[in-house]
Order: sequence, then C-alpha cells, then structure tokens
Amino acid sequence: MEETLQHHTYTKDNAVFPFCKGCGHHHYVNHLDEALFALNIDPKNVCIVSDIGCIGILDSLFATPHTFHTTHGRSTAFATGIELADGILRNSKLKTIVVIGDGGATIGLLHLVNAALMNVDVTVILANNFLYGMTGGQHSQFSPLEFVTPTTPAGNIVPPIDICSIMKSCGATYIKQAVATDKNLGSIIADAVNHPGFAMVEVLELCTEWAVPFNKFDGKTMNEKLRHSNDGGVPQRKDFATLYKEKVLGNLKKTIDDTVTPAYTSALNGSRRIVLAGTAGEKVQLASFLYMKSAIASGLHATQKNDNPVTQGSGFSLSELCVSNDEILFTGIDQPDAVIIASADGLKEVLANGTLSRCVAETIIIADQTLPEFECAGKISRLPLRALCTGSRAALSALAALNVVKGWISQDALWEMIDGKFKDKSGSFHRDIEALMPFIKT
Ligand code: SF4
Ligand SMILES: [Mg+2]
Repeated sequence: MEETLQHHTYTKDNAVFPFCKGCGHHHYVNHLDEALFALNIDPKNVCIVSDIGCIGILDSLFATPHTFHTTHGRSTAFATGIELADGILRNSKLKTIVVIGDGGATIGLLHLVNAALMNVDVTVILANNFLYGMTGGQHSQFSPLEFVTPTTPAGNIVPPIDICSIMKSCGATYIKQAVATDKNLGSIIADAVNHPGFAMVEVLELCTEWAVPFNKFDGKTMNEKLRHSNDGGVPQRKDFATLYKEKVLGNLKKTIDDTVTPAYTSALNGSRRIVLAGTAGEKVQLASFLYMKSAIASGLHATQKNDNPVTQGSGFSLSELCVSNDEILFTGIDQPDAVIIASADGLKEVLANGTLSRCVAETIIIADQTLPEFECAGKISRLPLRALCTGSRAALSALAALNVVKGWISQDALWEMIDGKFKDKSGSFHRDIEALMPFIKT
C-alpha cells in the first residue's frame, strides 16, 4: 500500500510518495510537514529550496509553500541569496528551508560552510542516507566505515565527514542530529526553522534500495551513529541580515548616495540602445554610467552592462546602454541604435563581438577619425574625438554630442551630471561637444 501524508496544510491532498517502499525520505517529508503544521506559518512565507537526488523530488509533494529546485550541491547558496534578499529588503518574513542529501552536502560543502559562517537565517535539513541513492547507490563522503555499497563492496575504508563538527567550527548556532524514525524529529525541525540564524538538522536514514540489502542496520545501529557532537551549536549570535542592516546598510547609505531624482523630462518614445567601445582606463564605462543616471534623472528607465577583458585595466572597455520610457525587461542589444567607437581597442572588440555586423542602415556609428576603414551597414561619422577631446573624454564627448543631436534624454540632466563630475569651470567640455556636433550624420 502506498504511504500518504498525514497532514494536508502544506502538502498536496492525497500526495503519493515517489520514494521506494520503506525509504527514510517518507519519515523526512512527514516530519517536515508536521513541523510546518506545528509552526502554522503562512505558506506564502515558506520557501523550500531543494537539491538533486531522491530527496530533491520532495518539492513536488508540497502544494502551498514556495518551492525552488536547484542544481546539485548549490541549494544552500540559492537559499542564502533568497534569505538575504528577504532579510535585508523585506524584513525577514520568509522561512527558507534547504532540503539536501549527503551527496549535495558533499558537493556543496563550501556553501554550507559559508552559510554557517555568515549565520544566514536558513534551515538546512540534511537527509543523510550515507550514499548516492538516485545514481546507483555509490558510497558518499558520509558513508560510515565498513559501509557496503556498490562502490565499496568490501566495506568503506574512509571515515565519514562529521558535518556537525564542521558546522560547529563554522559558528552554526543550531545543530542537531536525529534518526528519521525519531518521534520527536518534527519538533527538532520546528525548532530549527524557528531558530533565528543558521540551523542544521542532520537526519540519519536508510536507503532501502542500496543500503539495507548489504548492511546490517537496525534502530540500535542507527542510534549508535548519532555522534557525541550532537550537543547543539555555538551560543546564539546575530544573523547576517540583522547584522548587515545594523552595521553595513546604514553606513553604505551615508557614503554612497546614488539616488537619482527624476527632476527632468524626456520626450523619448520607446527605447534606444547604445554601445560604447574604447580603451580600458579611458572612462568609457564612466561615460555610460553618467548617461544612464542622466536618463533616470530624465524620468526614463535605464540599464548599463559593462564588459572588459579579464585583465580589467588593459585592452578594450565596452558598455551597453539601454534607455527607455518603458520598463526594460531585456538588457541585451540585438540591434544597436548607436555605436560609439573611441579607440582602436574598441573597434577591434565591436568587430570581434559582432556588434557592427548587427547594425542596420539607421544605426548611427560615431568613430574616431584616426581609425582604419571598416564595413558596417550603419551611417558612419568620423569625428576628431581623440584629437579634440583626448582619449579619456572621447567616449563621453561623443555620447553627449550624439544626445544634443538626437535628444533621447534631457541634455540639461546630462550637463548637470557632467558638470558635477568634472567641475568643468572653463567650459571646455561644452565647447568640445559643440564642436563635434556638425560631424554627426543622422
Ligand atoms: S533509491 Fe534509496 S534513497 Fe532513493 S528513493 Fe529509493 S530507497 Fe530512497
Ligand atoms: Mg544520499
């Protein structure tokens, strides 16, 4: 007879377990459901983040909480991100629960270490059945000594990871071990979920398919596997989101005030996508950033994506800008409205990455006049960018001149941004930009 769930508040009505008969995962699911039932949390505020393996298919049994199925070993990293977004931006409404097996815990061990070190408010419930059940019963780094599996037919000769000790050494504030059949496992899980900060429950279970036929394990043997380290975590300390809000966020707001007020307007209808290409260190990405902020100050939406070689400070520097009067849901550029090429490094890159081949007849290309000839479907204007403005002002001057001609964003907003950044008291920036304008073909 198929085993069904005992409660129906969080799980699907009449859910049928996908696990093999007698598998410890049945107890695991029932106890997790029981814990959520006991805590009576709004299912909208529960996020179950599952890993790969037989235990990872548990999320399909849950009807009402959020479920998020992740890649092998990475569930704790995903959960950390979810929790930090919730804890910092939304006042910690979510209970984030990681469902992971011993395989996932081995592969993603450093994610567990990091989550425990940070003390993120995440609950990890580790289903440790000492082997990789889903992929053929291979032994894992959690297999006990002498454990027989298809890959350790003579018995495992390598001692298992002591995850409780590792977590404790990383400052985890709640650590428990239990056997899946323990009657009080539900309340242990409930305590873990309720615990403010990182919590881990290691649930020892048996895989009936691969462990039971080859190993003599009974309740007594399982209880003997409970380690002496099952004495809880380190004393309570503040969780990461709380500490971050207390110690970092306030100071960040004081030192980095990048809030832009939309004090200007723009008549732009639709979106414009601009590629800036030049040389690293010549303020290409800064030009893009100032334009993006000016677009936001013009009441528009704007995005910026940068690229450079791994070396960061040498070779090309590229930036892709989108400005739009609508929300921008795609930040890539298939067909640019304008391409600014400020140097030979920039030209090499837009040729190599296909930007120029994606231009159409309407695309405005502004290139420094010293660059070699190149093929492109767009309208090419050759400007004395570097001779007139110097390399470090070439990209921004070209972008500002283009904007004066096209009026995509408020020029007043852009002037304010440029003047605020460069303290252009002599007005040379303005004069250079005006001198460039007649060269632009539109
Ligand atoms: S293979 Fe093992 S771990 Fe997987 S469902 Fe079957 S008994 Fe459970
Ligand atoms: Mg396993």
